[in-house]
Amino acid sequence: MLNLVLFGPPGAGKGTQAEKIIEKYALKHFSTGDMLRKEIADKTDLGMQAKAFMEKGELVTDELVINIINSVIERNKEANGFIFDGFPRTQAQAKALDELLLKLNIPICAMISLEVEKQELVDRLVNRGKLSGRPDDSNIDVIENRIQVYNNQTAPLIEYYKAQNKHRGIYGMGTIEEIFDRICVEIEKVK
Ligand code: AMP
Repeated sequence: MLNLVLFGPPGAGKGTQAEKIIEKYALKHFSTGDMLRKEIADKTDLGMQAKAFMEKGELVTDELVINIINSVIERNKEANGFIFDGFPRTQAQAKALDELLLKLNIPICAMISLEVEKQELVDRLVNRGKLSGRPDDSNIDVIENRIQVYNNQTAPLIEYYKAQNKHRGIYGMGTIEEIFDRICVEIEKVK
């Protein structure tokens, strides 16, 4: 089973590259951001709890996202493999994911970490906000906060996966195809 963590700051291109990886390798895609936005659109209790955090660019609680991930993995155990996009984002989430996958005997194969310069991230997010109207992409203060939250709370996970020898840094600047080719080279090595 091919299990990947697709990692990187907001605007690094995780969603775009996830779509291409899924198509090529037939993996099941888990984006906690997409799941949370669906909960908000459906006006569920969970969505209402998450909304205030997301609007500010803060992380929602570990408990909430870990519960979401646990339930979707349980329901998709027969998949070819998983791609985690935007999860884990904290050490507690990474540990919870490892424990769950250990129980199922399907460990993470690699963390594909997209590396993009800060100004490029801001430019991409501002552009995406204009096209999608996503509230957290439409406010420069929220964009800056998300990048800071990433640097403080999420980037340390690079060390967590390096310690497991699973970190694969990918230069995330250039065309979508160029970046995808670099990702595929790494996937082929762990497949
Ligand atoms: P994303 O679509 O991945 O950029 O996520 C959008 C927002 O959803 C983030 O800014 C967080 O508020 C929230 N979110 C998504 N995934 C997580 C996660 N794994 N842990 C905590 N908050 C998350």
